Amino acid sequence: MPAETRTTCPYCGVGCGVIARVEDDGRVSVRGDPEHPANFGRLCSKGSALAETLDPAGRAHSPMLHGRPVSWDTALDAVATAFSDAIRDHGPDSVAFYLSGQLLTEDYYVANKLMKGFLGSANIDTNSRLCMASSVAGHRRAFGSDTVPGTYEDLELADLVVLVGSNMAWCHPVLYQRLAVAKAARPSMKVVVIDPRRTASSDLADLHLAIRPDGDVALFNGLLAHLAETGAIDEDFVAAHTSGFAQALMAAGRADPATIAEVTGLPAQQIRQFLALFAATEKVVTCYSQGVNQSSVGSDKVNGLINCHLATGRIGRPGMGPFSLTGQPNAMGGREVGGLANMLAAHMAIENPQDRDRVQRFWKAPAIADRPGLKAVDLFEAVADGRIKALWIMSTNPVVSMPDADRVKAAIETCPFVVVSDIEMHTDTARLAHVLLPATGWGEKNGTVTNSERRISRQRAFLPPPGEARPDWWQMADVARRMGFEDAFAYPGPHAIFAEHAALSAFENGGSRDFDIGAHADATEAEYAALTPFQWPQPAQAMPDADRRFFGDGRFFHPDRRARFVAVTAAAETRTSPAFPFVLNTGRVRDHWHTMTRTGKSARLSAHLAEPFAEIHPHDAAAYGIADADLVELESVTGRRVVVRALLTRRQAPGAVFVPMHWTDETAALGRVDTLIPGRRDPLSGQPALKHAAVSLRRH
Ligand code: SF4
Repeated sequence: MPAETRTTCPYCGVGCGVIARVEDDGRVSVRGDPEHPANFGRLCSKGSALAETLDPAGRAHSPMLHGRPVSWDTALDAVATAFSDAIRDHGPDSVAFYLSGQLLTEDYYVANKLMKGFLGSANIDTNSRLCMASSVAGHRRAFGSDTVPGTYEDLELADLVVLVGSNMAWCHPVLYQRLAVAKAARPSMKVVVIDPRRTASSDLADLHLAIRPDGDVALFNGLLAHLAETGAIDEDFVAAHTSGFAQALMAAGRADPATIAEVTGLPAQQIRQFLALFAATEKVVTCYSQGVNQSSVGSDKVNGLINCHLATGRIGRPGMGPFSLTGQPNAMGGREVGGLANMLAAHMAIENPQDRDRVQRFWKAPAIADRPGLKAVDLFEAVADGRIKALWIMSTNPVVSMPDADRVKAAIETCPFVVVSDIEMHTDTARLAHVLLPATGWGEKNGTVTNSERRISRQRAFLPPPGEARPDWWQMADVARRMGFEDAFAYPGPHAIFAEHAALSAFENGGSRDFDIGAHADATEAEYAALTPFQWPQPAQAMPDADRRFFGDGRFFHPDRRARFVAVTAAAETRTSPAFPFVLNTGRVRDHWHTMTRTGKSARLSAHLAEPFAEIHPHDAAAYGIADADLVELESVTGRRVVVRALLTRRQAPGAVFVPMHWTDETAALGRVDTLIPGRRDPLSGQPALKHAAVSLRRH
């Protein structure tokens, strides 16, 4: 009898439900889950091709030590010994974990508990730092917690949806489909896209603002000033529920379209149109993604747009609010368990002594970390200068995805002890491992993920793991036991980890925090197996109504329960120079995911865009003697080069080039575009500026 399993797509933060069907002969097919509230049966090209990516070629089957297969006992003993020795000889901050938004929440929980509670360091960061750290910082400054106020339904209920730095059509395709359907049914709905490129998402836009890179703060400051000048401020809301409005307004300056135009590069007429539309529309949702976050002023961009929602009281009510679209399938779940160097667990703060005390007592932890650890870019710099003696990388490929990626590669090469847990044997990072641990992948592992609207869904296994592959949580728990922490990591399965995570969220909480899933603290294995998708909060005490929006009642999570306006003044910065005259923007394409270890296995997905390319405006191409499909060479201040195919298009702004992030040294010679990006990052969030570097361009 064919077997069907309800699970969740492992790609983007939309978090679509998938039904996987395994035939008697082992063939697998997938379809959208019509009952999942994120997608109601829809899937995008990546989700619908999931079965084509299950090819076992290249999978890691057994633990490897210095390139030779060994038993799990030998491999895990080596890991436990190396981490114990480093801590004994150099202290707890000489070890580090670098994780991934691909991990399940249960994996993340065990990693965070081990590092922050038992090894005594907070040197645990994740590729989510490259994805949404600026949103986290902005949320915490404005709301006192890392909380996305709204739901996907709000996009369908809004009269104006503003997409800022978000190519939703390619990067969150099913949500884009929902938006397109809603707009088709209600043509009065307006969509504004703010993006330097005219992307596929612009096709839905009533207005496309081709803003200069990092011009967003000036635009949203201008909007705040315009709202004040035109009487669109919700004075009662601002007075009752916020603080800092006067300072933010003073920092915003004047709503003068000519001044805004100077910084943003936008025509004054388009600026007037946008300001008037926002001011006149009550139901506004502002969605933002990596074009906002991946910036050296990312946190200020986030707070600049949140300021406008606070000023108008348009938050936490149907069809209104700022909305961070999470790039990865479980970046949100990682945040919930504190899987970032500057967070603790269950949305508690590592800087707060009461929070640390609460977590330490709950975990019965011997050595709780008492200060934030190293964020991703700093972490690899610490690897490079020898401060990190033992490094464990899980489920990610930083040799390709980190900025200044060749420096990161060189740093890992010099690290005395490197563990890599991965499903694939031959990634650019796995090749550098002293110990390679084979991990279970999508379809083989069990756990939960949280999508961009705070919905927790199950990922379920429907295939046996290949060879000796084991879940990431199991690998870490076993190392913890070998390091002497037997009792705290004796988990019989992921359900026990999930129940402990839920119990921690409710422990001495008293309703004072946003993240609370205490209703699941006593979940049995059977209940966990049958868990249906739900949005947090879901506290042990039943909520009075089913509205899962935050802040509709005007109560925020700062101690005084008020939201904070943040005065932001960052101006767009010019990084180009005569030597490097082009602005480089990087990002995703429709049909590939990260470094293509999975999507690269599908011929159908690879057919969409078969090789890396640089989008160049035809005027620039003509000036540099470049024809469509020529090979072009890009170079940056990092001293690295990439060679890719020229793709001439008027969707690209003159003076800028776009290169996708997916290709590696394996899949394209000199295709690793992140080697060109310097390690510049937002000072508050630590998120690298992956969308704004300066490069030179020439025909190859
Ligand atoms: Fe998967 Fe995202 Fe596509 Fe949904 S929209 S099927 S979660 S990649």
